Amino acid sequence: MIHKKIAVIGGGVAGMETAIQLDRIGYPVDLIEKSESLGGHAKNWYRVFPDRRPAAEIFEILHSNLKNSRVEVKTSTTIKTFEKKDGKIFLSDQENETNSYDAIVLCSGFELFEASRKEEYGFGIYENVITSAGLEEMFNSGSILTKQGKAPKRVGFVHCVGSRDEQCGNHHCSKVCCVTAVKQAIEISEMLPETEVFCFYMDMRMFGPYYEELYRESQEKWGVQYIRGRVSEAAGNAGGSIQVKAEDTLTGRPLKMNVDLLVLMVGMLPSKDTKQIAGQLDLKTGVNGFFKAWDDHYQTNLTSQTGIFIAGSATAPMNITDTISHARAAATEVDKYLKEINNKITY
Ligand SMILES: Cc1cc2nc3c(=O)[nH]c(=O)nc-3n(C[C@H](O)[C@H](O)[C@H](O)COP(=O)(O)OP(=O)(O)OC[C@H]3O[C@@H](n4cnc5c(N)ncnc54)[C@H](O)[C@@H]3O)c2cc1C
Ligand code: SF4
Repeated sequence: MIHKKIAVIGGGVAGMETAIQLDRIGYPVDLIEKSESLGGHAKNWYRVFPDRRPAAEIFEILHSNLKNSRVEVKTSTTIKTFEKKDGKIFLSDQENETNSYDAIVLCSGFELFEASRKEEYGFGIYENVITSAGLEEMFNSGSILTKQGKAPKRVGFVHCVGSRDEQCGNHHCSKVCCVTAVKQAIEISEMLPETEVFCFYMDMRMFGPYYEELYRESQEKWGVQYIRGRVSEAAGNAGGSIQVKAEDTLTGRPLKMNVDLLVLMVGMLPSKDTKQIAGQLDLKTGVNGFFKAWDDHYQTNLTSQTGIFIAGSATAPMNITDTISHARAAATEVDKYLKEINNKITY
């Protein structure tokens, strides 16, 4: 073991993978998670794009690697105070227990946009308006039903809810919600072959490998229909269905449509912890509120403070594949720092 201690804050995919990699190099690592279990948001997803494998399979690997490591996992632990002093980082938890570390990696992840903030879409008002995260819960339960207990005949997806939205003050693109909508549209079509599925989008952003193929498959094999236009309003009808008003910007025509279930593709926002941690440690955040890297090309795991590193979706909306790569890179950067190879930042 190397006698330098590291804390990884946040036990989602980023934190789990960072801790595993640091342990493999030989460092003692505490993996600190505020909730009762590891896994972060992704443990709630049913199957994941692009290959639609069960999310549980990814966690089997992560949990098994952690089990075979010496990482000390501390769940239900909230760090209240972060302090950097004399080259060490001191963390105090809710019990006022304080530990010191030679380096920390912030993997505090993201928060979902609160859909009720977009009142015009009726979330929290009409019971058949749900979020993309809520739909994953339905997939996990094995049945897609409206609140009236019926299989929906028509499902609508609204893209960019709380992202790319001037009114909400969120200008950034959440990156993964277009392909999540494609994946979810396919899941619905597979589970309910008679159901018509419509996606209301501004742009289709298929940035990753096999995403474009999945998008094509959704149209050619599953008949998902894509309508370019921003939904202006959703209103409840008697009987529980939802009337959607939009403008089809390709034909230039206003459009009204009834759906039985309306799914809001909520965006990824920086978590409240990010703001708190950044304040206490004097770290920079970007215009979008996520942790700002020292350099956006070469040093995406480094912060403006030596010994404090960042990984995963705490730095920007990110898919699981990129989160794992970013976590591995963070472990390498911490190792370089602790071995004093990279004390002076070079390019
Ligand atoms: C609806 C939806 C569907 C998605 N589907 C897919 C998909 O199919 N395929 C794919 O590749 N990606 C998908 N993603 C993206 C995926 O969820 C992320 O890539 C992944 O969750 C990022 O992991 P993370 O560890 O960075 O963050 P998180 O999952 O947010 O984990 C962060 C963890 O840190 C903990 N934490 C936060 N602050 C503290 C603190 N102060 N102290 C201790 N613990 C703390 C949190 O409790 C949480 O457990 C989807 C995203 C959304 C929104
Ligand atoms: S990924 Fe798609 S749905 Fe999500 S914010 Fe970007 S454009 Fe909108």
